[in-house]
Amino acid sequence: MLELLKGAPVAEAINQRTQELSEHLRSLGVSPTLALLRVGEREDDIAYEQSAMKRCEKAGVDTRSVILPADVSQKGLIAAIEELNCDKAVHGILLFMPLPKHLDGEATRRALSPEKDVDGISYGSLAGVFTGSGEGFPPCTAKACIEILDFYGIDCTGKNAVVVGRSLVVGRPLAMMLMEKNATVTICHTKTQNLPSVTKEAQLLIAAVGKAKAIGAEHLSTGQVLIDVGINFVDGKMCGDVDFPAAEAVSGFVTPVPGGVGSVTTAVLASHVTEAARRFADSP
Ligand code: NAP
Repeated sequence: MLELLKGAPVAEAINQRTQELSEHLRSLGVSPTLALLRVGEREDDIAYEQSAMKRCEKAGVDTRSVILPADVSQKGLIAAIEELNCDKAVHGILLFMPLPKHLDGEATRRALSPEKDVDGISYGSLAGVFTGSGEGFPPCTAKACIEILDFYGIDCTGKNAVVVGRSLVVGRPLAMMLMEKNATVTICHTKTQNLPSVTKEAQLLIAAVGKAKAIGAEHLSTGQVLIDVGINFVDGKMCGDVDFPAAEAVSGFVTPVPGGVGSVTTAVLASHVTEAARRFADSP
């Protein structure tokens, strides 16, 4: 039998913690606030912005939308980031990526203060993930996977974990976070030889590929925990990277798409903002 690791109860538990911390901070005169910095009018950015604002507000986090024109100069973008970095009323900054092609993503990541980088895109935040120093914040999606494992009591210690995908947004940071939880981690990508032979050995299999049915029956074995990060659309319907009917034929545990990792990501975002506000309130 295949059991679903649904995201909704995980998100609810995170939101509860976020609301409690937010109320405490407000009693101290600090209102946790997220600035959403968007360049241009991309439809997927606007959709994510609207859902993030709605979910943050429900969790007790104030939001502020900052919109720059699609043809903003690099200087103009850096100036906007520096203004938010210095604004004491803003605790978290969410910068929508990818940026328009004429802008320098590297320089922009460097400009973002790790203390406010609540989606883990700055080098300071990534260094924090890779060294375990606690600087900045991990990317929300990678953290959402860890929250799901923790919520369902899945102990990673000594487990053979295979992460398919090596992006800086999901695969790489998640691999580091799983290692921090004492899993033995293998990272796979397009140049991996005989992927099914690697994934079949996994007790914990993370799919962060971005292709429908990238993980099929030949990649799976009985009793695996499958975390499906993928968001794909086939004939207008959302699906993950795991071929669901193939997974159903193998007993184990799987996060559904939709209703899995994606539904936990914005709850993590709100929790990172309150944590940034707590660090701000505690700082001398
Ligand atoms: P990405 O930057 O395109 O990275 C995809 C990774 O998968 C790359 O490392 C690539 O390898 C690897 N890959 C592609 N095809 C493969 C194959 N056939 N076999 C083995 N490895 C393969 O994507 P991403 O930003 O990490 O996102 C991954 C998925 O997660 C996407 O569907 C995205 O929409 C989704 N996502 C979900 C959330 C959420 O909240 N749930 C958030 C962010 C992203 P190479 O490095 O060799 O090219």
